[in-house]
Amino acid sequence: MVEPKYKRVVLKLSGEALAGPKGFGIDPDTMKNVAQEIKDVHDLGVEIAIVCGGGNIWRGVTGEEMGMERAQADYMGMLATIMNALGLQDVLENIGVPTRVQTSIEMRQIAEPYIRRKAERHLEKGRVVIFAAGTGNPYFSTDTTSALRAAEIEANVILMAKNGVDGVYSADPRSDETAEKYSNLTHLDIIQKGLQVMDSTASSLSMDNHIPLVVFNLNESGNIKRVVLGEDIGTTITD
Ligand code: UDP
Repeated sequence: MVEPKYKRVVLKLSGEALAGPKGFGIDPDTMKNVAQEIKDVHDLGVEIAIVCGGGNIWRGVTGEEMGMERAQADYMGMLATIMNALGLQDVLENIGVPTRVQTSIEMRQIAEPYIRRKAERHLEKGRVVIFAAGTGNPYFSTDTTSALRAAEIEANVILMAKNGVDGVYSADPRSDETAEKYSNLTHLDIIQKGLQVMDSTASSLSMDNHIPLVVFNLNESGNIKRVVLGEDIGTTITD
């Protein structure tokens, strides 16, 4: 049996990853498929922390464009991530994966508050920890949350699951046929070339804390497991 390459991972699931073909809200079948993929990795004995996005329900920038105060709109975005986290928790537990949701904005009736040491304990005990409500601060993103939590819990890697894109390209492969896929990049390349992987705050945090990142396509069945087992299917970003 092939040994997993990573012991502890942070999986970044954007809201889009749960939205399915409609591109909005939560699609039950899509959510179940993602949960099964997570279970397959969990069964390998890998410790999994998940950071849920919220863009399938609400994004702060959308509110700002509608004339809302940005911070207020961002808090709505953070609440959206909690809805996704609870949905994901439900489907994971239905297939026998023990989970805990931890929120960066306290909501004690429905989830634990984020406590780093407790999160680590859950991981050690084989529970999947789902981090919700981003960093708890407006003007940040769940990409930044992934980098922050990965640094805090000393994860070996951030798995950036993308929808329909199998890695990082020199240009948008959907509109530019000369676009080339990179297999390996450095964090500095991402920042200097302005490649669309994470926002710049998240990239800087990953670079400063030497956190490797793998960008891969979530839409192909079995891909999370392939990455965890060390297959080169996406783009790896290191120091
Ligand atoms: N958000 C925030 N602070 C955080 C994380 C998220 O204010 O630390 C808000 C922000 O408005 C964002 C929304 O939550 O637009 C949803 O998160 P994100 O856009 O990162 O989700 P994704 O694109 O991954 O689905």
